[in-house]
Amino acid sequence: MASFISLHAGESTAGVLRFRGPPLVSLYGRPDPVAYPVRTIFGSSPNITFRHGKVTGADLNARKLALSDGTQLAYDQLVLASGATAGYYGIPDAREYTHPLYTLSDARRLRNQVLGCLEAADARPADFDGGALTFVVVGGGPTGVETAGALVELLDVSVHRDRLRIDPQRTRVVLLDAGDSLLAGFTAVARRYAEQTLRTRGVEVRLSSTVEEVTAYGVRLSSGEWIKAATVIWASGVTVNGTLGASLGLPSGPGGRLGVQPDLSLAEHPEVFVVGDAAAVPLGGGRSGPCPQLAPVAIQSGTHVGRQILRRMAGDTTEAFNYRDKGIMATIGRRAAVAQLWRGPVLRGTLGWLAWLVLHLVYLVGFRNRLVVLVNWAWRYLDWPSGPRLIVADLDVGSALDD
Ligand SMILES: Cc1cc2nc3c(=O)[nH]c(=O)nc-3n(C[C@H](O)[C@H](O)[C@H](O)COP(=O)(O)OP(=O)(O)OC[C@H]3O[C@@H](n4cnc5c(N)ncnc54)[C@H](O)[C@@H]3O)c2cc1C
Repeated sequence: MASFISLHAGESTAGVLRFRGPPLVSLYGRPDPVAYPVRTIFGSSPNITFRHGKVTGADLNARKLALSDGTQLAYDQLVLASGATAGYYGIPDAREYTHPLYTLSDARRLRNQVLGCLEAADARPADFDGGALTFVVVGGGPTGVETAGALVELLDVSVHRDRLRIDPQRTRVVLLDAGDSLLAGFTAVARRYAEQTLRTRGVEVRLSSTVEEVTAYGVRLSSGEWIKAATVIWASGVTVNGTLGASLGLPSGPGGRLGVQPDLSLAEHPEVFVVGDAAAVPLGGGRSGPCPQLAPVAIQSGTHVGRQILRRMAGDTTEAFNYRDKGIMATIGRRAAVAQLWRGPVLRGTLGWLAWLVLHLVYLVGFRNRLVVLVNWAWRYLDWPSGPRLIVADLDVGSALDD
C-alpha cells in the first residue's frame, strides 16, 4: 500500500478554505465554520499520515526534506503545494505598514484594526481627523473589490446598529487600482457593474492610481498625492518569491511560479510535482499560457497529480493536465455579486450573489460547517445587520491613531 505524508505549516492543524476571502472571516468573526482540521479530513484514510511542521528546504537529488525541528523526511515522490504569499513589488515599507489578506490571522488582525479604529474614534472623536477613519484598499481585483464592499457595509452597520458616535461623513473607503478598470479578467459588463455598485455604496474607486510609497500615515501615489490613512489593506496580488517553492533554485516564471511539464512534474526531477499557486500550471488542451492562481486550479491540479502518481505506481505513463474553467466570481456585498460562468452569461446583482453563496457553501469542507454558515447567512439576511462585531485579540490599532 502506498503511503502519503501531508505536511502543513499553518497556524493550526486547520485547513482554511480561502474561497470566501476576507469578508466572511472579518464580518462574522469566528473562523471555525470556514476552517476544517486537516487531521479530520484525512482521519479515515489509513495510508495518509499528517504531520504539522514547516519544511525549511529540500535536497531534490537526495530526495529529502529538511524540517524546522531539525529532522529530515525522505520521499519517493514529492508534491509541492506550498502556495504563494502577498506580493509587494518592491514598494518601500508596504510589508511593514499594510495589512495583507492571505491567512486567517491576517483577516482577524485586519478586523481588529478596523473595529479598534472605530472604537477609538468613538471614545475620542476630537482627536480624529479624516485619516484615522480612512481605509485604503490597494488592488482592484476580486480580493480588493470584496474587501472594499465588506468594509463599507461594516462601517455602515457599526454606525447604525452599534450606535458608534462617528460621523459617517468622516469615514472613507478608498479602492486604488493602477489599471483603468476593476476586476481585470472579468467581462466589461461585470467590471462596470462592480465599479458602479461600489461607488453607489460609498466606496471611492480611484483607477489609474499607482501606489509608490507606504508609511504609517498613508500612501503616496505616483501623481505625488498623499492619501492619509491609518489602515491600508494590501490586495494587489501574490508571488511565490519568499516561499518554499522559490527557495529550491528551480526555473521560475512571472511571480516566481515554478515551471512544470504538461503532467505537472519538474523536467529535472520527474518524481517531483508542483501544483496550485506555486506552479505556472499550464492551461493544457492546446491552450497556451498558465492558469490563474485560483482555488479551482489548485484543486484540479492536486487531483490530477494524485492520479498521475497512482498511474506511475501501476506502471502507466503520466497524462497532461487540462484545466476545466468553470468561471469566476466576486461578491461586492449584500445582494451584489458578479458570477461569470464559462461560456455562459454574467450573473449580476441578487442572482450573482445567490450563485456566489451556493458555490461557496458547496465548497466548504464538512456538513456541519455548511449548515452553520447557511444558518448564519440566513439569520444575518433576515435580521440585517445582526452578528457580533467582536474584537477577538489584543488590540493593536497602529501608531497613526495616537497623533
Ligand atoms: C484573500 C484571498 C481571497 C481569495 N479568494 C479566492 C476566490 O474567491 N476564489 C478562488 O478561486 N481563489 C481565491 N483565492 C486564491 C486561492 O486561495 C488560491 O489559489 C489557493 O488557495 C491556492 O491553493 P494552494 O494549495 O496552491 O496554496 P495555499 O492555499 O496557499 O496552501 C499552501 C499551504 O502550504 C503550507 N505551506 C507553505 N509553506 C510551507 C512549508 N515551508 N512547510 C509546510 N507547509 C507549508 C501553508 O501552510 C498552506 O497550508 C484567494 C486568495 C486570497 C489570498
